[in-house]
Amino acid sequence: MATTGDELILQARERAKAIAPKTLPSLDALRIEAKALFVALPEPPDYQRADDPRPAQARQQVGPALEVLARLLALSEASRRVTTIAPHGEQPASLSASAEFQPSLDALVQAMELHLRALAAIGAGQIVEGELFVSEAKASARLALNEGALFHFLGERGDGPQPVYDRASGVSRYDPRPEQRLDVQLSCTTPRCLKRGRFTLPARQAFHRLTCPNCKQPFSALIGRALSLTRAPRGSDESHYLLRFERLGQGVQLLEFDDAARRAIKADPGDLVALLYSCTGLLIGFENLTSGTLQKVTRKSACFVATMAFGEGAPELDVFRAYRDERLMPHCLGRAFVHSYYRHGRALADLLSRSTLTRRAVRWSLEKIHARLVRSSMDEERS
Ligand SMILES: [Zn+2]
Repeated sequence: MATTGDELILQARERAKAIAPKTLPSLDALRIEAKALFVALPEPPDYQRADDPRPAQARQQVGPALEVLARLLALSEASRRVTTIAPHGEQPASLSASAEFQPSLDALVQAMELHLRALAAIGAGQIVEGELFVSEAKASARLALNEGALFHFLGERGDGPQPVYDRASGVSRYDPRPEQRLDVQLSCTTPRCLKRGRFTLPARQAFHRLTCPNCKQPFSALIGRALSLTRAPRGSDESHYLLRFERLGQGVQLLEFDDAARRAIKADPGDLVALLYSCTGLLIGFENLTSGTLQKVTRKSACFVATMAFGEGAPELDVFRAYRDERLMPHCLGRAFVHSYYRHGRALADLLSRSTLTRRAVRWSLEKIHARLVRSSMDEERS
């Protein structure tokens, strides 16, 4: 008779109670064992056939997976006990660090439980359940393994504020548990800089205001996990993206944005991603922290109003473009103006072009501005 996933998880819990804390391997060692099992997970059978080797393979893997889950559960139980007694008593040396790993440990436990459910379903030749649990187990494993690579703890590195704990009085001035930190490299959004900088951020929050260590300009990052990213064409040369996004330490959010770049922005489910915003709140970059790739988010750009007034290819347009790139773009407020212009400029141009009179009026005022720009750039050359 086939054993269900629930039954296997119960067996692992029973087994965990019998494991002596002293005999437990480190979390890193268990992560390596878990990874080897995750990689070996057979694909679910797509139809019933007698000679399919996969159900037998899955049944063979149940034993080792059950053992690793039992040890993960035992380690989790031991580290929880340490967490609750830590402020008052001496910690057992072998477990002193494990409380800090609780989030990584929880993620691994969850992934291993799903892995066992997937094995049970494949082993029993269940096609639909197999398919479902295998995809969930894979996403969950990815998440659990990423967690270990990207998160670190200040207490572990020893370069952050250390807990102040007076052993004699037993008084702790701060929460003795180190705050979980996220160690990431993010790209600056200022057009002339775009350099990557290293940031250590609190992992319980998704939105971060940052200052580029290179150009000292402010920008912001929204960090979380991509749950899904879909792309649909918008017009002839733009794509519309829909990102289901789990904000770090917060809930799930749906984000939409457009991009004019030809290369598609990519994120697999479970990838840790950062959306990079300029100081004015415009989305400039999509940084996939799991795959280590940065993609610039661009918009179709044209001086809509000036093009409408002077006509395509007119020499006056170069002066406006130069002013935009050299004077407005390097400054935060200038960029805000340019971005809001691109957001509304096309509609404005459409509206103005409907009548010859307004077109002439716009042209007249732009000519004044044009003359002033030419004068000021000449003044600058002289001085
Ligand atoms: Zn910068």
